[in-house]
Amino acid sequence: MIPVTKPFLPPEEEYNKYIAGIWQRQWLTNNGPLVNELELKLKDYLGVNHLLYLTNGTIAIQIAIKALNLTGQIITTPFSYVATTSSIVWEGCEPVFVDIDPNTLNIDANLIEAAITPKTSAILATHVYGNPCDVEKIEKIAQKHNLKVIYDAAHCFGTTYKGKSIFDYGDISTTSFHATKLFHTIEGGAVFTKDASLLKKMSYLRNFGHEGPEKFAEIGINGKNSEFHAAMGLVNLNYIDKILEKRKEISLYYDEKLAGLNCQKITISSNAGFNYSYYPIVLPNQEITLKIIETLNSNWVYPRRYFFPSLNTLPYVNPTTITNSESVSERVLCLPLYYTITKEEVDLIARLILRVQNN
Ligand SMILES: *Cc1c(COP(=O)(O)O)cnc(C)c1O
Repeated sequence: MIPVTKPFLPPEEEYNKYIAGIWQRQWLTNNGPLVNELELKLKDYLGVNHLLYLTNGTIAIQIAIKALNLTGQIITTPFSYVATTSSIVWEGCEPVFVDIDPNTLNIDANLIEAAITPKTSAILATHVYGNPCDVEKIEKIAQKHNLKVIYDAAHCFGTTYKGKSIFDYGDISTTSFHATKLFHTIEGGAVFTKDASLLKKMSYLRNFGHEGPEKFAEIGINGKNSEFHAAMGLVNLNYIDKILEKRKEISLYYDEKLAGLNCQKITISSNAGFNYSYYPIVLPNQEITLKIIETLNSNWVYPRRYFFPSLNTLPYVNPTTITNSESVSERVLCLPLYYTITKEEVDLIARLILRVQNN
């Protein structure tokens, strides 16, 4: 079977070394030494000022919204994972969907201003597949209208924009270290900000609002992550360059093998150092998309309709029609891409896809 992704697993003995230390210290969670070490090493690797390591990427978005005291409407993209929208609703705000650019599949910054109302408090955009949004245009709009900016950068480990980590952009950026992501800590996530007071506030939000054992500075939630998760991150970080390299190699190999396929590839920002997080193809219509899925599945290959459905069609948001996002989500497939996939497996996948097209 060839799934869309397989989590990266490092050599067991390297993980076990860290676990032995946990047994010695008997310190399992609550900002332990491995969590601290992971935060420092990630800061170093990514070249960012600050980050807070959290339980997952969804809590990261929720903490970001809470930290910025957002209310009313948040302008967002309908082409993302459900957590982007559900977090807005979970925090008591209303998502207002702006269509995507059909070439980059990111929110179309040119359409944002028309969606701003007196109730708008922020823009929450996703760097889809690790491809940076038009961060400069979004920044300008936000400044002009006094809005906050959050980036869901769940796909962006290792992505740079004009040479800087993409996590450096927006008032807050969030990411996910879930097992299926390029860099993972089994479950995990993080928030990034350059604003020291916002960082302090989020550190309270992460830990029940505790300021010392008997004093509470803020409302809080439990967003802490454990020593075991941090250990996985520390080991995986040693392999990150190999992981990035392998993804690129496989992506370029797909490009070569699928050169004859009638499909659209996303336009990557020319300012980006791209991480090859996913291998998406956008097909001409839904019919051929479903046929390709059927053929692949019957050969034990499982691509994923990522993202489907378009989030403006969720049952808990105001119904609207968002043309490009709905159209792309019906036609997009992410093909299998992971550290241990072989070129022979890519050959098979490409052959099966081309066979559907040429029938
Ligand atoms: C994975 C993902 C999330 C959620 O992260 P978790 O760590 O699974 O909670 C949010 N947004 C996007 C775009 C994602 O891909």
